[in-house]
Amino acid sequence: MHPEPSPTPTPPPTLMVTCVPAFDDNYLWLIHGDGAAAHHVAAVDPGDADAINAVLDAHHLTLDAILVTHHHGDHVGGVTALASRYHVPVYGPANEDIPARSIAVQGGDTVALPTLGLSFQVIDVPGHTAGHVAYVGHHALFCGDTLFSGGCGRLFEGTPAQMLHSLAHLAALAPETRVYCAHEYTAANLKFALAVEPGNRALAAYAGEVAALRARRLPTIPTTIGRERAINPFLRSRLATVRDTAARHAGRAPADDADAFGQLREWKNEFRG
Ligand code: ZN
Ligand code: FE
Repeated sequence: MHPEPSPTPTPPPTLMVTCVPAFDDNYLWLIHGDGAAAHHVAAVDPGDADAINAVLDAHHLTLDAILVTHHHGDHVGGVTALASRYHVPVYGPANEDIPARSIAVQGGDTVALPTLGLSFQVIDVPGHTAGHVAYVGHHALFCGDTLFSGGCGRLFEGTPAQMLHSLAHLAALAPETRVYCAHEYTAANLKFALAVEPGNRALAAYAGEVAALRARRLPTIPTTIGRERAINPFLRSRLATVRDTAARHAGRAPADDADAFGQLREWKNEFRG
């Protein structure tokens, strides 16, 4: 008697992420599924084509798509060279000028990458730039220069209200979501975070972990949404302790939540740890 094996449903692909360091402190990301299609990859924010090509060539990977979060040079610098070498679609924010963009995306869109077995939702996260988008899927977030570990992007084109809203959207993702931001800024961010919240024990513990990683030149990224909620002052600007400390530094009470967030961001701009 041999019982029929019950058909096993195909499990959802696991997202695999390869970190490609570039320039002084950028992380470019190569993403792929596991299993048979694992050599098909997409590049997120490939600011440097040479850095991406080196990894593709060394591991015999096939580039199938490029995803861009915003228009800054350290995020798009390699897009034209890669797109013309590999003839792949370039997904990028609809409201920004992205070189070689072939598919314009905005919040609510889905980016399906069938050869990778992966798909992502697009979220609008204006603030660092006016049309900045993030990609979320498979318990991972690719957020460019919007959310960093312990910090957030500078407000080059957006308002404090926009950035506060964008970060609130990201903070509402599941706590286990891994956050793949585009820069290794964590250690410097935590100096500021500790100035804002010297009594935050989760923050102090994390600062110790980060110092140990950086002493060995290891990345602190990915972080998680759950951790950032606990330690990142820019996700905590509505808390009385954070708000009061920023207001004391600014020398005036904030008019509203966006103003309180703006005071915190201004303080960080001039902070020298
Ligand atoms: Zn940027
Ligand atoms: Fe950047």
